[in-house]
Amino acid sequence: MKKALKVYKFGGLSLKDAEAIKNVYNILKTHPNERLIVVVSAFAKVTDALENLVAAHMRNDGSSDAYFDIIKKRHFEVIDDLFDGEVNIKPEVQSVLDDIQFQLDKHRDKGYDLIYDQVVSRGEILSSVIVSAYFNAQGLKSNWVDARKIVITDDIYREGWVQWDETTKNAHGLIAPLLDNGGVVITQGFIGSATNGYTTTLGREGSDYTAAILSYCLDAESMTIWKDVPGILTADPKLFDNITKLDLISYREAIEMTYYGAKVIHPKTIKPLQNKSIPMLVKSFLNPEGEGTYISDEVEDHYPPIVALEKEQALVQISTRDFSFVAEHHISEIFQHIADLRLQVNMMQNSAISFSVCFNDVDDKVDRFAENMERKFKVTLIRGLELITVRHYNETTVESLKSGKMLLLEERLRNTMQMVVKNVPVIERRRGS
Ligand code: ASP
Ligand code: MG
Repeated sequence: MKKALKVYKFGGLSLKDAEAIKNVYNILKTHPNERLIVVVSAFAKVTDALENLVAAHMRNDGSSDAYFDIIKKRHFEVIDDLFDGEVNIKPEVQSVLDDIQFQLDKHRDKGYDLIYDQVVSRGEILSSVIVSAYFNAQGLKSNWVDARKIVITDDIYREGWVQWDETTKNAHGLIAPLLDNGGVVITQGFIGSATNGYTTTLGREGSDYTAAILSYCLDAESMTIWKDVPGILTADPKLFDNITKLDLISYREAIEMTYYGAKVIHPKTIKPLQNKSIPMLVKSFLNPEGEGTYISDEVEDHYPPIVALEKEQALVQISTRDFSFVAEHHISEIFQHIADLRLQVNMMQNSAISFSVCFNDVDDKVDRFAENMERKFKVTLIRGLELITVRHYNETTVESLKSGKMLLLEERLRNTMQMVVKNVPVIERRRGS
């Protein structure tokens, strides 16, 4: 009988330098003879650097060469540290770098989002080529697969939606035979291609989602995301104290948490896994023996308060100019614009004459939305806000989170409370003033 398939995803932090990549290899080494797909992100910070490169190129202010050089140097340094000169993959990596230049020049007038995907996607190509070569040099047979030949999406750049039938067919046709032949398959997260042949991306942090897509298409036994934290925590340890690890959570809780902005997994990751009852593990690449968090159908009904914080939020308040009600047909029109821009609504509320909606303030999407709305409504746009969500909240937690913040919007459901807040500087007040 064939061994069950596992899918591992390694993010940018687990590939931040040569040492980190060696650590990834050590993790794989302890699982010999596994049928394994390894999905990798770009090296840490490379996607940001590529975004900067695209922006600089489009501004055409002469700063793009500097960004390009940073990206090149970063990869060549890792190669020098990894290979001690015996394996020469610089020419291969150089050809990907040349391709980045080529893509920048070729698509200049095809719009920002298209050019973004053609260029930013190369971060994953670079990392996977280097990591795969390293595995092979260590004697671990590694089959490099171009995810763009597998994951097919629609042609909405930067947020491609997966075409499942074609993707499943490709995964069976191209990946399954490689797994049967032995060795690991290594491929890129985050990227795919549209049926028109252009590269697309699945949205920032989308590598987790790729791992789930492949797990789904090939009926994996389990999927593991390797992170720099011990598992899924009750809040981001960089921002809060008194954090605990959740040992076991349900798909439902995971989907709710990520939907509300818990950064630990990409929000689209859970659905394909849940649909085929594929358990997901979140484990630490710093402590691979640790238990991590196990996400499955098993339901734990008592969760502690779980806090997610999203920064860079924009609140758009829309009201009628003539004091008439914001009626159903207005809301429907507002949502049509939101859907067209593929903006994600994080929170919304309406009163008689106004409708408030909170989004992640990414790119120029919120500006585009506000401009559209201004044609018809009175619009106020407030930026630089935070959205705090507490699942399984209690008053103590909520009160402590509110301190030092100005509350702009609040909503409570049975299990979830959300608030949009502005950080207010602490002003010392003298008694009587
Ligand atoms: N490299 C991409 C990003 O940084 C995808 C990912 O890491 O998941 O957004
Ligand atoms: Mg990530």
